[in-house]
Amino acid sequence: MSLSRRDLVGSFAAVAAATLAGTAHAGDKKQGTSPLPASGTPAAAPAAAAAPASGPFVLPALPYADTDLAPAISQNTLAFHYGKHHQGYLNKLNELVAGKEWADKSLEAVMKGTYGTDKLPLYNNSAQVWNHTFYWQSMKKGGGGAPGPGKLSDAIKASFGDGDGLKKELTQAAVSNFGSGWAWLVQDAEGKLKVLKTSNADNPVVMATGRPLLTIDVWEHAYYLDYQNKRAEYVAAWLDKLVNWSWAESQMA
Ligand code: MN
Repeated sequence: MSLSRRDLVGSFAAVAAATLAGTAHAGDKKQGTSPLPASGTPAAAPAAAAAPASGPFVLPALPYADTDLAPAISQNTLAFHYGKHHQGYLNKLNELVAGKEWADKSLEAVMKGTYGTDKLPLYNNSAQVWNHTFYWQSMKKGGGGAPGPGKLSDAIKASFGDGDGLKKELTQAAVSNFGSGWAWLVQDAEGKLKVLKTSNADNPVVMATGRPLLTIDVWEHAYYLDYQNKRAEYVAAWLDKLVNWSWAESQMA
């Protein structure tokens, strides 16, 4: 499935229209390899969400209500993070592609095509839109715990010994990432799971370092309202209360 611009459906009306039509993505020839979902069904639109976008890219709805992750992530944090930060990257992306060839490409094509080039604003904003969409899916209401029996659980045992081994590595990557960035669980070409950290907007898709299964946003805006400078407490709560193992398993090759 592809996170093409047609999948990035944001306003309630647009989501409803796309869902009802049921054909919003079929035959979109700009499909890439992104595992991100199509528009899906929004649980709710947070109050801070978003004016309808003007431009080819549209913000996808959150996959839950903005109160659903509390207390690990408060409604205040989630509303700002989604409605201001994610929306801000999206708005900037639309500004940057206006009238350019990029406006006709998928989000994934934009971030891959600008990575490592002099088009840094276009890269940063497109990758941050992608990263945040993946981050929302990496969490769920009532998440945490351990994955149920299945291929993810087997791969975690093979790669990290057990779930605690994985959590230890993810915690280390998230807490030690200097400055702004992301911690990732990825699956490499041989099927083995690895933990990575990236800086700023970088992600394993553009860097070709693995297939993303989960990501933790460790930019300060992800946790500062709730945890201030205590990033380790945010990461612990994220793993204990929010991590969406079924999403991770669904992203495996
Ligand atoms: Mn963020």
